Amino acid sequence: VLFIENLHKEYASEAGPVPVLKPMTLKFSRGEMVSLMGPSGSGKSTLLSLLGTLEKPSGGRIMLEGEAVSELAEGKLAEFRARRIGFVFQSFHLIPTMTALENVMLPMLGMRGVRRNEMRRRAEELLELVGMADRLKHLPHQLSGGQQQRVAVARALINRPALVLADEPTGNLDRASGLNVLRLMLRLKQTLNMTFIIATHDPEVAALSDRVIRIRDGEVEADQRRPVEGR
Ligand code: ATP
Ligand code: MG
Repeated sequence: VLFIENLHKEYASEAGPVPVLKPMTLKFSRGEMVSLMGPSGSGKSTLLSLLGTLEKPSGGRIMLEGEAVSELAEGKLAEFRARRIGFVFQSFHLIPTMTALENVMLPMLGMRGVRRNEMRRRAEELLELVGMADRLKHLPHQLSGGQQQRVAVARALINRPALVLADEPTGNLDRASGLNVLRLMLRLKQTLNMTFIIATHDPEVAALSDRVIRIRDGEVEADQRRPVEGR
């Protein structure tokens, strides 16, 4: 579903370009849950930003669902991103003045050809799926961290993306809520056959993933698949 080839990123500095991600070639399958692990500053978030087309690579190629994403023009890219990629962040990024339901509907608002009733139905369905059916009208501050993250996961899935990118989704949650969010993602991955790529320091996330990629100094240090019976 997703293929990157010689993808790399440098940042300019006074001392010249600083390599953050060295040329990286990786393939991700449909329905795979992948953890990206590695020390702080190793390039995990940078890789997610590149995969999510939020940042431009210095070079290399990204193919998502057969589309050469890295070659799309900015206008097309925004639409592609909105339709095909879901994002979950450590700090939830919910809009504080919008209810849970409205937050989940948000990524659909700009879409052509989806009626408001249909949006609402899909948002309600997803909130039910993440166990938040009785919190539709709650504002983010009326929800716990774990519940906010569930809303954020529902929002990430609303356009039925092929790919969901999560940057430390359990980083601000206690162990129990983190595990809940994690189990939720696993279940969704299985029922909806989506690919999840999760940057994390959380060994429990890694333990439940299909595959763990360790990154160090902008390079893949190890790439391990887990036997299914191990989970
Ligand atoms: P953490 O586990 O702490 O979240 P990370 O693996 O996600 O770390 P990145 O955020 O990808 O690390 O950062 C990798 C490196 O890139 C760091 O050294 C960081 O300082 C550098 N970096 C990130 N963004 C920029 C930027 N916009 N300009 C310059 N350097 C940057
Ligand atoms: Mg990071």
